[in-house]
Amino acid sequence: MKSLVKHHAGPGFQLADVPVPSIRDNEVLIRVRRAGVCGTDVHIYEWDDWARGRCKPPFVVGHEFAGDVAEVGKLVTDVAVGDRVTAEGHIVCGRCLPCRTGNSHVCPNTRIIGVDRDGCFAEYIAMPALNVWHLDDSISFDIGGIHDPMGNAFHTALTAEIPGSVVLITGCGPIGIFAVGICKAAGASRIIASDVNDRRLALAKTMGAHDAVHPDQVEAAVQRATNGMGVDVVLEMSGIPAAIHQAFAMVRLGGRVQMLGIPAKPMDVNFANEVIFKGITIYGVIGRRMYDTWHQMTRFLLSGEFDPTPVITHRFPLEGFEDAMRVIKSGEAGKVIFEIA
Ligand code: NAD
Ligand code: ZN
Repeated sequence: MKSLVKHHAGPGFQLADVPVPSIRDNEVLIRVRRAGVCGTDVHIYEWDDWARGRCKPPFVVGHEFAGDVAEVGKLVTDVAVGDRVTAEGHIVCGRCLPCRTGNSHVCPNTRIIGVDRDGCFAEYIAMPALNVWHLDDSISFDIGGIHDPMGNAFHTALTAEIPGSVVLITGCGPIGIFAVGICKAAGASRIIASDVNDRRLALAKTMGAHDAVHPDQVEAAVQRATNGMGVDVVLEMSGIPAAIHQAFAMVRLGGRVQMLGIPAKPMDVNFANEVIFKGITIYGVIGRRMYDTWHQMTRFLLSGEFDPTPVITHRFPLEGFEDAMRVIKSGEAGKVIFEIA
């Protein structure tokens, strides 16, 4: 089958012909139709410090996808050939303390497709049946293929109290833009979104932000919206230290900061003034809650109140991977997807 492979310990990907994966008894084989391209794939492409420390080539890249089931293992009872599906890309052990207390998203034994084992930038992928998520007939493969990053946004937003809140979203990458639409559908009273990129601010507006502004205009927008009290909730979705400090500065006393963005390196925080004396709550977001986030996402999509379609701005065949990397790095894109079959 055709696939995009991280073939060696160095920059780049290779388009390669590899065998169709064989499945274990508890797995299913999925024919991939759409796959989302993400910042993580760019890290692996560029072979940065994180990728070097984590990944062991050769392996098939990619972790966001949707498709239809082509084959099921002997022990699989609730997934059938022909089912339209996506999947949770974090494969967890099910046995550790977090897994057994409803917190599989922080399983220490997590293996991620396209990072720790073969991924979805290929015509077929093998997945444990437990990770499969069925798509309603009304949900396209395009939308199915971006459930992973959309799930990051759902997890970040819906573990805070959004109804009636004034929400600040710092960073309008694909995940921040999804979050704007989710907060709108969840009943935020006002959504202020910030980014340094005008194209992305325009997308945030399309998805329902009341204010979509540059970082230096955030304080004035928060002042107007809250009479100087500060916002109830911040969703930090940039990972940029200046934005993280701004999140702590803009949240009201007793408010909540949801941290999704990943700073590139350690940073200083004045815990006394930025966190403790303000009495705020910080929540670290990793992946998607299994499977509360998935249920919430499906219900929001089926409600018709949340439509992520405008976030998808670019499509490429697998052969166009160099262009896909380029548009993501340029910042001109919302969500970029591969059309595989
Ligand atoms: P992205 O890098 O495309 O988006 C970040 C955005 O922040 C960019 O649009 C950038 O212009 C903007 N930005 C830069 N400086 C800013 C500032 N001072 N104020 C406001 N915005 C600013 O990334 P994405 O794919 O949307 O992901 C968002 C973040 O979440 C990244 O840091 C990514 O690594 C992280 N992430 C975390 C998880 C998790 O499970 N915790 C999962 C996926 C991604
Ligand atoms: Zn576990």
